[in-house]
Amino acid sequence: MTVSGRSVEVRGLHKNYGPHLAVRDVSFHLQPGEFLTLLGPSGSGKTTTLMMVAGFEAPDRGEILVAGQDVAGLPPERRNFGVVFQGYALFPHMSVLENVAFPLRMRGLPGAEQRRRAGEMLEKVGLSAFAGRQPRQLSGGQQQRVALARALVFEPDALLLDEPLGALDRKLRESLQQEIKAIQRRVGISILFVTHDQDEAMGMSDRIAVMAEGRLVQLGSPAEVYLHPRTPFVAGFLGETNFLTGSFCGVADGLAVLRFADGSLGRARLPDGVAVPEQGGKALLSVRPERLRLLPDGPVAGVVESCTFLGRHARYVVQALGQSLALSTTEWSPGAALPAGAAVRLGWAAEDAQLLDG
Ligand code: ADP
Ligand code: MG
Repeated sequence: MTVSGRSVEVRGLHKNYGPHLAVRDVSFHLQPGEFLTLLGPSGSGKTTTLMMVAGFEAPDRGEILVAGQDVAGLPPERRNFGVVFQGYALFPHMSVLENVAFPLRMRGLPGAEQRRRAGEMLEKVGLSAFAGRQPRQLSGGQQQRVALARALVFEPDALLLDEPLGALDRKLRESLQQEIKAIQRRVGISILFVTHDQDEAMGMSDRIAVMAEGRLVQLGSPAEVYLHPRTPFVAGFLGETNFLTGSFCGVADGLAVLRFADGSLGRARLPDGVAVPEQGGKALLSVRPERLRLLPDGPVAGVVESCTFLGRHARYVVQALGQSLALSTTEWSPGAALPAGAAVRLGWAAEDAQLLDG
């Protein structure tokens, strides 16, 4: 059995709940076979967006196209999406095999065909041996795999997954993340995935759509959104960062030049689409702790507040530019750590700092 993914395009989706704007002008295009993740904090509009794609909620405005066809008038069961939502439970009184066969039964397939295809799907998620069990006789992770098998069995155009691993402990989460990726590679399906967990999004996605307050604020590969955030929100949500404020001096060799309050100069990348501040205007930049460096001739003077060895890396907190900056380094050895109060100089490669909007 091969399931080949279709594209799902969302254009200008809007949804109000009373006076409350849950989703504002959200657009993206899930490509055939792509793994696209909606990532954002709780309340940012991820579930509402997915519910509209699935057909459980009607948008106030906007379009949803599957392989170019508008699905606005279609009820959920005719949109041909496989759905796994958190708490979208298995049928407790049906066996595992009956659960997986259920979508085929609803589509009126003959009994023998239902059992054959459900059996094949259970094999794909590694649960053949559990076909006759009841859901309550399975672990949480096994139940999620049955839910996945049930969502995939009818050869859907795309899979919609809303925090499907949210209730599982970390080990199980990680193994099911691998499992979902492996199933996707095997069946070639398009996946629209929802999570608030940045590591999960980074590890699984071809592209990440970062959401905040109902809006899609940045869309790109995991590397793009992590390395080249465009807003303070994206920079801060995907991992830790230092925000530095200075006055904008201009652009030299394609890089932004800033002057900090202590008179030192710093340079930063200008990510695509970021508004260039006016001369002398306030400019904000982001430098991640692992990109901030202790450099003997760095432009910025600082004083070590603390140094903590964390195994994979050591973390310094350095007082500089009137604030506490986080710096992480793998170049650390016992006895070589700088003590609190040590004077240091800091710097960064220009391409490791991002000028931000706002
Ligand atoms: P997320 O999945 O990112 O946590 P949701 O899409 O569930 O966010 O919610 C987005 C916003 O819409 C939240 O502020 C939430 O309180 C609100 N909301 C969601 N569903 C409803 C509803 N049925 N009625 C009223 N408000 C809702
Ligand atoms: Mg949600």
